[in-house]
Amino acid sequence: MEEEMEQVRRYFSSGRTREASWRKSQLHGLHRFIGDREDDIFRALLRDLGKSPVESYRDELGILKKDINAALDNLADWMSGKKIKLPLVSFPTTAELVSEPLGLVLIISSWNFPFGLSLEPLIGAIAAGNTVVLKTSELAPASSDLLADAIPTYLDSKAIKVIQGGPDVAQSLLHLKWDKIFFTGSKQVGRIVMAAAAEHLTPVTLELGGKCPAIVDSLPTWDFTRDILLKRLVSGKFGSCSGQACVGVDYIIVQENFAPTLINLLKGITEEMFGKNPKESHAMTRIINAHHYKRLKNLLKEDGVEASVVYGGSMDEDALFIEPTILVDPPINSDIMTDEIFGPLLPIITMKRIEDSIKFINSRPKALAVYCFSTNDKFMRRVATETSSGSLLFNDTILQYAAETVPFGGVGESGFGRYHGKFSFDTFSHEKAVLRRTSLPDFWFRYPPWNDYKLEL
Ligand code: NAD
Repeated sequence: MEEEMEQVRRYFSSGRTREASWRKSQLHGLHRFIGDREDDIFRALLRDLGKSPVESYRDELGILKKDINAALDNLADWMSGKKIKLPLVSFPTTAELVSEPLGLVLIISSWNFPFGLSLEPLIGAIAAGNTVVLKTSELAPASSDLLADAIPTYLDSKAIKVIQGGPDVAQSLLHLKWDKIFFTGSKQVGRIVMAAAAEHLTPVTLELGGKCPAIVDSLPTWDFTRDILLKRLVSGKFGSCSGQACVGVDYIIVQENFAPTLINLLKGITEEMFGKNPKESHAMTRIINAHHYKRLKNLLKEDGVEASVVYGGSMDEDALFIEPTILVDPPINSDIMTDEIFGPLLPIITMKRIEDSIKFINSRPKALAVYCFSTNDKFMRRVATETSSGSLLFNDTILQYAAETVPFGGVGESGFGRYHGKFSFDTFSHEKAVLRRTSLPDFWFRYPPWNDYKLEL
């Protein structure tokens, strides 16, 4: 592996990947891969996760195609130097910021969006002119095999390598010296990545998870618009990889007196989306593996938690299926309310006053996203100014992931660094300050010996 990395590093030194033509050809290659192999990608996602092709297109392929096109359209602008103003003291110097590639970068990705989370950072890394090693997730083997098999035929295999394997392989890679590590995954492994990066002072971006709350303050009174917002909320949980999404809704907060109405509405919309027998629904993704199935089952079986189930709750270990499940006020210190759920279990926490949700959110680690459904401008302003999260979205869920003009990333324990669109380009670049000086004018007092200005103590 080390020898192979050395070859990639030497290729970077050749300067080929810095050329705009190389970057463009790689972006075109990636676009061709997604277009030519669309059917294979759908099948791989179906095999790994039971994902519907519509969900796969909505959350992965569609976003990737759009973001590759945006990178192609904007590449010349992103690569061009940006003039900087200078203070008078440096007159008549000119200065600009020039983005240069970092070198050889390592991308470690996760299984829940195995194409999106591998290729989205790859777009930024190649647009910025880097060579790349991509370590895919062993938990989505069909997707990982397809990437490892196809990427070398669509992209420059001297510059971009796909490496398959689990934690052992990731650990061996982490011991090597990189110019940047971009990691998507859990907090626990994020710590391992950061410790390994410290060894070589390698910069890291950590795209981690956490518990994303959705505050439901109020909904529109007109049924039609109310149901649209409810669909966005329910889809942000059960309709996005069955809750196995880093920006998915983890739990809902609602005021006590609105809770019975909201719960009834949520039950109705959930049934509308997944039917009376969700196990038969093509829109439900399955749980990724037996380990995660057991983890979710344990969350549900904890003392006092199962008793709080008001909807769903059925499971099938052989099919790795868990029904969309709604719980009301499970014990606040139970694991389901302290650990990231990452599955189709939806706790609803009721509060006397909806304003208390702000204090509750602030008492927890900072989330990757906070969602808030409200018709009250004053309350929305309070949520915006008094809570902190990677992103904040009013009256919808997950949309921020799909907009390449919006920086995507966490804060606090949900990670640091940001990407998508130009933010990806910046994440994989060093912005170098380049100053140009003329020989005149100059000032004698800049230089020693300053003999006439001696100060005695
Ligand atoms: P994970 O941390 O278990 O695995 C992520 C990657 O790290 C995989 O490629 C895996 O092979 C590797 N890995 C696992 N154990 C390792 C170890 N001991 N040493 C080195 N590498 C190791 O996470 P996961 O199960 O793939 O994903 C779930 C987590 O990722 C959730 O917390 C979720 O919120 C988060 N996530 C975040 C984002 C985001 O964009 N912020 C997206 C998806 C998932």
